[in-house]
Amino acid sequence: MIPSLTADHVVQLAYLIATALFILSLKWLSAPPTARRGVLAAELGMALAIGGTLLDRRIVDYRWIAIGLVLGSLLGVPLGLVRMTAVPQRTALSHAFGALCVTLVGSAEFYLRTPAVPRFMMSALSMEVILGSLTFTGSLMAAGKLQELLPQQPITYKGQNIVTLLVLAVAMGIAVRLVLHPEHAGLFPLMIVISLVFGVMMVVPIGGADMPTVISLLNSYAGLSAAAMGFVLDSKLLIIAGALDGSSGFILSVIMARAMNRSFTNVLFGAFGKVQLSAETAHEARPLRTATADEAAALLAAASKVVVVPGYGMAVAQAQHKVRELYDALTRRGVDVKFGIHPVAGRMPGQMNVLLAEADIPYEGLFDLDAINPELTQTDVVLIIGANDVTNPAARTDASSPIYGMPILDVDRARTVIVIKRSMSPGFAGIDNELYYLDKTLMLFGDAKTVVADVVKALNGGHLSA
Ligand code: NAP
Repeated sequence: MIPSLTADHVVQLAYLIATALFILSLKWLSAPPTARRGVLAAELGMALAIGGTLLDRRIVDYRWIAIGLVLGSLLGVPLGLVRMTAVPQRTALSHAFGALCVTLVGSAEFYLRTPAVPRFMMSALSMEVILGSLTFTGSLMAAGKLQELLPQQPITYKGQNIVTLLVLAVAMGIAVRLVLHPEHAGLFPLMIVISLVFGVMMVVPIGGADMPTVISLLNSYAGLSAAAMGFVLDSKLLIIAGALDGSSGFILSVIMARAMNRSFTNVLFGAFGKVQLSAETAHEARPLRTATADEAAALLAAASKVVVVPGYGMAVAQAQHKVRELYDALTRRGVDVKFGIHPVAGRMPGQMNVLLAEADIPYEGLFDLDAINPELTQTDVVLIIGANDVTNPAARTDASSPIYGMPILDVDRARTVIVIKRSMSPGFAGIDNELYYLDKTLMLFGDAKTVVADVVKALNGGHLSA
């Protein structure tokens, strides 16, 4: 006999399917051809998780839930419509909201249970609210820095790391005290306030350049705090989803740190990202070779092999659709065009892939660092569009450079290099780029979208022989 299906069975089934979808989504998101499917799976998983939770028998009144849903949607829809270049700070805001929610739920659970909170429960609750609170303020700081509402420069003082770690130690000390004596409820808000302060202190000394790595680390903390909340609420779905979020955020931070050849301690305590303002002025007088859009078009048309290197400037200028037109114009002429994608080009991992995919540039034309570097010696023209740090040979040659050791695209090994950027301003790391002063380099100054459009016009205009 088949047992009858109760509402509880339906909820558990929804959670099980949601869990499987979250795992599959992470797998699919890791490759461009399956990424869309990954997003859909995650959306479906989240819808099932929310739907299942709403069916919970313990809900006695839906009014507050409805108000929360409307408010959340009102905030969420405009947040989903921000420009691509603002996605890192938008992500930081999402982490901040998630972490605030975790902290509020943890606080409510504490006050519902105190004074008789079992030790394991109090440990999970403490971890939940400490991680939630520090992620909340840390993420707000990170978003503020990226949006340039707060100073980008690292703010440092002597003995800062020790003071910051001491503050965290105090919060953890209070947590231990609460685990042993949960009846000391007055310590609970103190633990939250100290963790909130720690979140600010943690991000203040980190420069704008490291914010994406910090955001990914905060993503990991938000996930871990959600997993801790899962233990408090006895929700396996939350434990699994939080652990997935925590581990994927951590792995992403490791990948980003590696791509920049930085250690975690260096990202968190290195005060990297101080803009060396002298770089621009010190080298302003050095000779450069410049080109016009027509000259660049002629060089590209005459090449048999071209590698395009996009960077942050292409994202800022929203030049990806013009780049697609350039790709079409060149491939029509029989030129072999490939894209060299650095893992940290732009301001978040995968930003270039997303932009180029948006412009329908075929995935097969996109090559990562290891795949494209060996080809660069046989490349006629490398066309750099708004990329800077990821092409800086100082990473290979100058041991005193802050980016020394960072894997870069070896564009200086190509026959000719054309660089599109607006000025001689440095990139995010704030350092000058020797590449621009090489004999083989031609600077094409201007906004990436306008300049690429001019090059396309010259290529399509007919006065260049096909
Ligand atoms: P970048 O080094 O920041 O250089 C971008 C260049 O684009 C600038 O030199 C700028 O020069 C130019 N630019 C800006 N707006 C432009 C426009 N409208 N038109 C044309 N050019 C424009 O960028 P990147 O080479 O992509 O390197 C990324 C940097 O971010 C690296 O230092 C990386 O370590 C860091 N980072 C990235 C991530 C990530 O996940 N992607 C994470 C952490 C850190 P002008 O002002 O002269 O135009």
